[in-house]
Amino acid sequence: MKKAKEVTGHTQKTTSWGKSLPAASAYQWKAVDPAEKGKSLTLYGICGQCMQSDCTTLIHLEDGVVVSVEGNPTSPPNYGSLCPRGNSQIMNLYNPYRVKTPLVRTNPEKGLDVDPMWKEVSWDEALNIIVEKFKKIREKDPRGLLILEGFGNTNSILRDSFARAFGTPNVIGSHGPLCTIHYASCLVHSALPEAVAEMEYCEYLLSFGRSLGPNFATTGGIRRFTKAMERGMKLVVIDPHCSVEASKGEWIPIRPGSDLACLLAMAHVMLNEGLPYDEWFMKNRTNAPYLINSEGNYYRDPATGKPMIWDAADNCARTFDSEFKDIAMNGTYTVNGVACRTAFDLIREEFARYTPEWAEKICTVPAKTIRRLATEFVEHAKIGSTIKIDDFVFPFRPASVNTHRGVNCHRGGTYADLTGKIMNMLVGNIEVPGGCLGNSMRGPLMAPDKDGIVKPQFEADPFPFKFPPDNIDGHEFYPNKHTTPHLAINAIMNPEKYHIGYKIEAWLNFGGNVIRKNAQPERYVEAMKKVPFIVSFAYHIDEPTILADVVLPEHSAMERSLVSVLYPSHQTTGGEVIGFDTVRVRQPVPNLFDTRHCDDIYTEIAERVGFLCGAGGVYDYLNQQKHHALIDDGFYLGNQKLDINRKHSLDEIYDRQMKSWSRGDGRGLEELNKDGFFLHPRSRKEYYTYYFFPENKTRHPFYFESLKKTGETLRANLRMHNLKFPGIENEEYIWEQYRPIPCWIENSEINAPPEYDLWVVNWKSPYCPHDSGNPNGNPWLAELYQQDPFDFTIFLNSATAKKKGLKDRDWITVESRYGKTEGIMRVTELIHPDAVGIPGSYGLGTIQSNPIFREGTHFNALLSLDDKTLDAIAAGQELSPRVKVYKSEAKR
Ligand code: SF4
Repeated sequence: MKKAKEVTGHTQKTTSWGKSLPAASAYQWKAVDPAEKGKSLTLYGICGQCMQSDCTTLIHLEDGVVVSVEGNPTSPPNYGSLCPRGNSQIMNLYNPYRVKTPLVRTNPEKGLDVDPMWKEVSWDEALNIIVEKFKKIREKDPRGLLILEGFGNTNSILRDSFARAFGTPNVIGSHGPLCTIHYASCLVHSALPEAVAEMEYCEYLLSFGRSLGPNFATTGGIRRFTKAMERGMKLVVIDPHCSVEASKGEWIPIRPGSDLACLLAMAHVMLNEGLPYDEWFMKNRTNAPYLINSEGNYYRDPATGKPMIWDAADNCARTFDSEFKDIAMNGTYTVNGVACRTAFDLIREEFARYTPEWAEKICTVPAKTIRRLATEFVEHAKIGSTIKIDDFVFPFRPASVNTHRGVNCHRGGTYADLTGKIMNMLVGNIEVPGGCLGNSMRGPLMAPDKDGIVKPQFEADPFPFKFPPDNIDGHEFYPNKHTTPHLAINAIMNPEKYHIGYKIEAWLNFGGNVIRKNAQPERYVEAMKKVPFIVSFAYHIDEPTILADVVLPEHSAMERSLVSVLYPSHQTTGGEVIGFDTVRVRQPVPNLFDTRHCDDIYTEIAERVGFLCGAGGVYDYLNQQKHHALIDDGFYLGNQKLDINRKHSLDEIYDRQMKSWSRGDGRGLEELNKDGFFLHPRSRKEYYTYYFFPENKTRHPFYFESLKKTGETLRANLRMHNLKFPGIENEEYIWEQYRPIPCWIENSEINAPPEYDLWVVNWKSPYCPHDSGNPNGNPWLAELYQQDPFDFTIFLNSATAKKKGLKDRDWITVESRYGKTEGIMRVTELIHPDAVGIPGSYGLGTIQSNPIFREGTHFNALLSLDDKTLDAIAAGQELSPRVKVYKSEAKR
């Protein structure tokens, strides 16, 4: 094993560190325990260094000390491989910048660069302070506790039950607003988190703003991507930046924030320029033939209330679930004196104006390229073909269009995602081999609603309206929102604007970093300063933790026990996982410091405050918990309920979860510990949700009536309570995003003043696709990202740089209307001439963080928290503001 000084990586400058903590570089590592001397041990692990945490590991210990980590060669999904993050996780265990003992602030002044003057205290002392405050808040108004979580730790099984038993609805993920990708998939596929291409069979992938494998950098994702490319899949990447994946296929540069125009034009070509579509699918598996009245709603049978379809053979309308001789896709019909048109007709007419020539002016993609790509997509979809998997015959549609956060995170971004779905539906590729599949979830998910349509699930199922609101997350105004720390921050700073009638008295931060990972960090700092009491379950002193009043030190990933189910996801796992389900265990390594498992901390607080046991306690809620819509795969307590009147160890809870898992065959933790994982075989055909369609009758929404209805309900609710939409002067700005047919709307940056002549874009870096583990502060990873010419820098197109008189490696400032940041500029051809590229998530930090957090260009400083910049549906923040760039006065 390396000695402390060798693994420390960066040297801490004590001058900027503050006085209240010993400098990390001065830390003396524990001596080897004599009782462990001469012993060798191997533990089973689950990586934990990215959000997916799919990969299994073997952790080797000598003399009681962890000396190496490798991929478990026998276990899926990685079968021995680890990505650089997984390989470097040992450095997160031996990280001298970790919080090593409970801390209490003695300096009332708060700031990222203000020493809290920590006092080291015992766990008892720290917990007593928290318990006293939490008891008072719970008695007065439990909504006053905000729990903010994030990808820094996704291993808790008690957090939700803790919040419910405490009585607060305010649990918010800090990772949401820059990655709002869920709505359209929850609506069309009934699946979280998103829909992706089915890479086992896909032959043509049109990818907008998405990391497919290399940039997302999961072991299985890369393997699946590589195999698809070797198999001959044609890849077209439409993106302002030429990503690693784009370099393997065809890269089409596009102006940032204009994907909606390009997608509308492609759909126009498919609908209006004579290309074939999957007529059987559109007639029988979508609502495209539904009759629409002049108000834009389904025309409903007066007797049954069911939507109706025109039968062209019998010249009459019938309810959608009748037998038809010839379903009409086009035309205007009069039913019971009411003039109606088919949804398909209305959409085709709406899209008629979005010609490729129109789109070219906005997105810069040549009209002939748009036409070519739409045509290629349809040709490769092989409409009408089938494939047999096991004994089941599926439609075979080996082509997919996929969008991601770069496309969706703008005002109107949800329309772009929905337009991609329209293209996919036109070729009939939904949930079938080679096509577009809901990532992670499969099973009998797509039960029809009363109108015969896939039930909108998760984020497509709008939050109910309540006034005054209970939550500070803004869902009364954004009922289909993703996680919204930005709205919570606005509500804390300005409660009247969101009509919040109580005060946030305490903030429990756990694994989330709202300051570094969201827009306008200074606004988050101000909001945190406004909350009287902050507790942080902390691995290291990050930005939220330095503002805390009490810090409870948490285990690193390798020290945290865990049992988890691997749901083979299409995006992040290789094809080897098709055909079985897996449960894995992480056996914890001995903890190095006075740290605890996050769930043991929750248990301790709940017990001391008095809501762990009994009816309405943490265990009671845990007993009630199940994974919504995962149906057969749910990993919950099922028939193994906890006795709610006594305390349980985490191992006991894991054991019961295991035994209740429908695919675990009754085996428990003891058996799991023997091999580290179980495999439960299932048929390959079950990998495709199409197989589970109830009687193959469910239709997908091609015409988004439910979106229109949600907008109407929201508008009515606001009127009923005489409310204005927060931060919006003209409400049409919102309502034009609630149409049943996607349309072109300008994002909030298009009309920025001309001096902001460029658009900034960001993409995931393989070194830190999420904030799990400690990617930015890991010295092995830092060595890689600092030397990578395609990371840790600012990209500018060579022609643009020349026009501005800038040279390669100039130190430049990038300035938006909301903030500025700096860094080293690289001149490159790998970016659109109108774009500035800032990869990864670097910069900011505190005086007591690993100093490397200070380095790198802080992209998020350029973004806005302004309500006008949000997509009204998902509440996603604008990810590509207009910017100007100029040479900085001097390097920092
Ligand atoms: S892909 Fe994720 S889980 Fe697998 S080794 Fe890398 S960081 Fe770990």
